[in-house]
This record gives sequence, C-alpha cells and structure tokens, in this order.
Amino acid sequence: MKDLMLIAGPCTIETLEKTLSIAKKLKSLGIEYLRGGAFKPRTEPESFQGLGEKGLKILKEVKEKTGMKIVTEVMGPEEIELVMQYADILQIGSRNMHNYDLLKKIGKKASNKDVLLKRGMSATKKELLGSIRYLKQYGHIGRLYICERGIRTFSNGEYDRFTLDVSLIADLKDSYDIIVDPSHAAGKSSLVEYLAYSGIAAGAKGFMIEVKANEEDIPKCDANQAITIEKFAEILRKCKELHKKLYK
Ligand code: PEP
Ligand code: MN
Repeated sequence: MKDLMLIAGPCTIETLEKTLSIAKKLKSLGIEYLRGGAFKPRTEPESFQGLGEKGLKILKEVKEKTGMKIVTEVMGPEEIELVMQYADILQIGSRNMHNYDLLKKIGKKASNKDVLLKRGMSATKKELLGSIRYLKQYGHIGRLYICERGIRTFSNGEYDRFTLDVSLIADLKDSYDIIVDPSHAAGKSSLVEYLAYSGIAAGAKGFMIEVKANEEDIPKCDANQAITIEKFAEILRKCKELHKKLYK
C-alpha cells in the first residue's frame, strides 16, 4: 500500500446530523473512509444496540453528500446481503473473528467486497491466520485488511481495556495489509494517540480511529475512547510524519 489506509468516524451511527457533521470534518482533513456501526455487538443487552438498517440508510445519505466511502460491521450471516449494499468495506468485528459460518458466507456471498477483519480479542496469530484462510478458501478475492485492536492480557481493566499487540503488527506487516485500531485497545481517549503512533511505528499500513462530534458530545457507545476532531487532526499529522520518516 502506497498511502496510509485511514479510517475514522463514530463508534455507532446515532443521527444523520451528527454523522454528517463528523464526516464533513473528516473529509476536509483528507480522510477517505468513514466508519460507523449500525449493527453493534454490545457486551450488555441493556446497552444501545445500534440503529440497524436505519443506521445504514444514514450512512448512505452521508456517503451521497460527502463522497466518503463506508466501513461498517456485519454481525450475522443473515445480514450480509443487506450490509454489503451499503458498505464499501465490510467490517468483521473482534467477537466474530471465530464465527466460521459468517466467514464462509462472506467468502461466498461478498467475494469481491473489500473486508476489514478485526483480530479476536483473545485470538492467537494462528487463529487469525485460520480466519483469513476461511475467507479466502470460501471465495473472497476482494481486498482484505487485517486490524489489530488489542488483546486481553494481565493489564485488562487496570489502565486500559486491551493491550495493543504491536508485535503482531510488525510480524504481519510484510504479508498483509494490517492496520491499527488504537481506540478499542486504549479504551480511553488520552491513550489513543500513543497507541496510534506505536502501531504506525510497528509497521501498520493505516489506522481506524473513533471520533466524536465535539467536546460536548457523549457517544452512546465507547464514549470514553472517542476523541475530538481537533485531536484527531493532530494524530493524523503526526502519524503521516512518522510513517514517512520510518518507511518511505
Ligand atoms: C468497533 O469497531 O466498533 C468494534 C465493535 O470493535 P471490536 O470488534 O474491535 O470490539
Ligand atoms: Mn467502538
């Protein structure tokens, strides 16, 4: 990959206004891919589960208005056809990396679609490579991005939610288009920038970062890790500089 693969946006699609305002700002910073979940894998059933198809329609409208490409998660095999109509990149979440039925069906039904496969939070490298082979052997020929988003280690719950496995990024960087998700690894906004830099330094070909609309915005999902667009702009600039310095 020549240029960094840069994806940013809210954790979850909440309203058209909020999504559009975020997208316009990201677009003005040169970001090509807008992320945002419509179908959300939440740990607790009481939590906001996402807008579903309504969220996908919001993404479509934002895409039409801004020209940004859409990255959004597909949670179950039965939603593949629906989500692939709206997504430029189908996201397979951390919790679904081991969902072999989903992987097989994406391989078959969405063969040409670009896919972003997130590493399971407790998945070994061998298991990740197995999931990649599931997609490929069942027919996937689109572009495949692999995303390191942090794994469970001893530190979980103490200062962060997950530990970013920079070794895996370095290990896979020459064989796969691997990107870093510092947001879910960090779990809190003050750590996001440092994990982003670490990922890029380790050889990530890009990042996926969660942002919020403004300082007052409290996202319905993953609020603690959401950063402002101003902070995002700074991280973007420094990541580009770092990548240039180390890898160009
Ligand atoms: C997300 O990207 O919003 C998400 C749910 O991430 P993960 O699957 O890595 O937890
Ligand atoms: Mn999230």
